[in-house]
Amino acid sequence: MKITVEEAKGLLVYMEQNAGILRNVGFELLGHGRELADKLSAELSALVITGADGDQLARQAIAGGADKVYLIEGPEYGRFHTDAYTYATVELINEYKPQAVLFGATVDGRDFAPRVAARLETGLCADCTGVGVDEKTNLVIWTRPTFGGNIMAQILCPDRRPQMGTVRPKTFKKPPPDSSRAGQVIKFSLSLPPSANRVEFVREELPEGVVCNLEEAEYIVAGGRGLGAPENFKLIEDLADAIGGVVGASRAAVDAGWIEHLHQVGQSGKTVGPKIYIACGISGAIQHLAGMNSSDTIIAINKDPDAPIFRVADYGIVGNLFEILPALTKEIKKARQK
Ligand code: FAD
Repeated sequence: MKITVEEAKGLLVYMEQNAGILRNVGFELLGHGRELADKLSAELSALVITGADGDQLARQAIAGGADKVYLIEGPEYGRFHTDAYTYATVELINEYKPQAVLFGATVDGRDFAPRVAARLETGLCADCTGVGVDEKTNLVIWTRPTFGGNIMAQILCPDRRPQMGTVRPKTFKKPPPDSSRAGQVIKFSLSLPPSANRVEFVREELPEGVVCNLEEAEYIVAGGRGLGAPENFKLIEDLADAIGGVVGASRAAVDAGWIEHLHQVGQSGKTVGPKIYIACGISGAIQHLAGMNSSDTIIAINKDPDAPIFRVADYGIVGNLFEILPALTKEIKKARQK
């Protein structure tokens, strides 16, 4: 065992950056991490790994709730690279020995957090939908769906340190930044030894066609089985286009093969938190709600007045979506042209 229970102190949040911009998920984790750290009477730190502009990113992390920011900066860290980021994070954790580390369950986080955990000889609870504190033991409680989403497991890591997990984006709200906060920036100078880097970056090819960034979307229009056929997703796309939103879907629509899984919202899909979520022909099963009920405003369109979705909706429209959606899209387009 590398880091002992006795010596491990404080919480650490990994702040993911892309092209020099910190992603929201890091701030969401910092906001919730602040609450956890206060419960544990522990310090909350952030880890920023970047190619440049580190001081500016560190200030943003402090405004987001961090007491301390560990900054690893250098040209070799400009772009996410599994080997480089794993090496740097392991070195930093071995030096500062936090009791718990939170990563976003993003493509990058899911890629390198398990490697970090393996090298530190500790566990990792992947893809969590909740993080709390067990008051009896002061251990972090990691919550995640298991057995295909049929039960929510609560997982503790009593013997190894750090306790580690990846947490789905939008599980927690991003708190507003507080630029009056003060914090300490610790520069951790670390050059990457050639032996730690086994992969050469050749080029980046961005996917053509479907772009579906549901987790970061401010407006989502989602369709369910009530659409009746794949071609009717056109009604959803039209409304999404009119409001500058992204298309989501229920699992029933995905399982029917009407739309790709990357659009699925819910327990076995994505967790979202837009300003407005418009659910069309979606009944509101608990597994769907699990992925969208933290949206700021929920609007539901359903022909069944007793559909469970109306229990969580801020605004409900009882009616036939085939009449309501085209009318709504038309009015929104008209209003936007004015
Ligand atoms: P339905 O429940 O069939 O609802 C269709 C709705 O459309 C009805 O309320 C109906 O009144 C309405 N409707 C029909 N015609 C019209 C019309 N013309 N106009 C207006 N309204 C109309 N589900 C998810 O969504 N995401 C998940 O991640 C997810 N994970 C799951 C994990 C597990 C382990 C399990 C067991 C289930 C999971 N599910 C998930 C499935 C979930 O339980 C539901 O089966 C699913 O959400 C139902 O999708 P739906 O609301 O589109 O369909």
